[in-house]
Amino acid sequence: MFEKVLIANRGEIALRILRACREMGIQTVAVHSTADADAMHVRLADESVCIGPPPAADSYLNITAILSAAAITGADAIHPGVGFLAENARFAEQAAENGIVFIGPTPDHIRLMGDKIAAKKAARELGLPLVPGGDGPVRDAAEAVAQAAAIGFPLLVKAAAGGGGRGMKIARSDGELPQAVRLAQGEALASFGDPTVYLERFLGHPRHIELQILGDGHGNVVHFGERDCTPQRRHQKVVEEAPSPALNAAERAALGALGVGAMNALGYRSLGTLEFLYQDGKFYFIEMNTRLQVEHPVTEMITGVDLVREQIRVAAGAPLGYGQADIPFSGHAIECRINAEHPRDFTPAPGRVNEYHAPGGLGVRVESGLYSGYRVPPYYDSLIAKLVVHGRSRNECLMRLRRALSEYVIEGIDTTIPLHRDIIAAPAFIDGNIDIHWLERFVAGGG
Ligand code: ADP
Repeated sequence: MFEKVLIANRGEIALRILRACREMGIQTVAVHSTADADAMHVRLADESVCIGPPPAADSYLNITAILSAAAITGADAIHPGVGFLAENARFAEQAAENGIVFIGPTPDHIRLMGDKIAAKKAARELGLPLVPGGDGPVRDAAEAVAQAAAIGFPLLVKAAAGGGGRGMKIARSDGELPQAVRLAQGEALASFGDPTVYLERFLGHPRHIELQILGDGHGNVVHFGERDCTPQRRHQKVVEEAPSPALNAAERAALGALGVGAMNALGYRSLGTLEFLYQDGKFYFIEMNTRLQVEHPVTEMITGVDLVREQIRVAAGAPLGYGQADIPFSGHAIECRINAEHPRDFTPAPGRVNEYHAPGGLGVRVESGLYSGYRVPPYYDSLIAKLVVHGRSRNECLMRLRRALSEYVIEGIDTTIPLHRDIIAAPAFIDGNIDIHWLERFVAGGG
């Protein structure tokens, strides 16, 4: 097992990883920008290294600075967390070249799944059902119009390098295509440095359902069930739950078998998530994330398995040591992503947290680095806390979540806690009767 792990991330996820390491008796190194010197995980880590100024490009994305910090502190592995360098194949390669284990899959698998066009091609070969779409990239409006004829409208123009819901534009007719292609290409270039886009049929009322898988690279792959991440805003997840209220036992078993089969065929090692849209009883693969997901705690709550610990074990070369039948599923869990944003217009709200009180009690888990007096810096993602609640049934979980949200105090900055209170009181959400477009309508005053 590793002796010392460098955590190449910040915020709640850095703290989450630190806690797993500490329980495993592994020493931790925090790296941080000058804006994060007072962060909770930096205080708790065994060692910390400042790697640069606030802009992520100069700190959390600075591969040379991070690898130097690992060399100086003698770390034998790096956990990349979520976002930043977590899906950067070059970073994984360079870590290995420096004799440091990257806690994640092989660089080849990161690269394959990081290009959504290549990922969809691979998924088709692995037997996963796809959203109907074009075979390859579209370079211009003429190519898009030609491909669109076979796909049909409405359709989505999507960035091959996409992530975080960016670089995605809808086109409802031939006439709208040129502008959608141009806008998606521009956004893709600005966000990912790669303007490649492709076309996909736009599904009108799907749910987002994803499968958590884990492979050990020794021929063993298991799944930990699905997560339902249907409430979204701007293609970004807001509330996640497990199991999905929309699936029956047969559909659940079929999804698990499909995912495990595909990952076995690929020889996948590490944690990974296969994302699907689900509409009218059918699954459509959209992408695979080759990393830990923000919403992993809901899976942990219903299985009792520490997924970060499993990810670290497997990276250290350990075989799983258990099979699918050994993974227990119990009850229901829901996670609310709490952002430092205005709850209605979503303008970012960095600043000082004057008063902080987290909820507690049976079945309540808070993933956050906040404390009274902490200053939320303006430079990064606005996620500041995840409230995760477990109950024996979905109804008990909702009752408990309502109670926990009413206890949560974060004063001094705007947060999306009031939005979450409204979401879980909405009849459509309570009934589990929503699709990925529901939350946008709800926020706009409908739904
Ligand atoms: P990203 O990598 O940016 O998260 P995804 O491909 O995972 O992009 O899609 C993010 C979200 O966008 C999905 O969860 C879904 O809500 C929406 N979306 C993606 N593809 C489609 C589609 N073909 N039809 C309708 N909605 C889609």
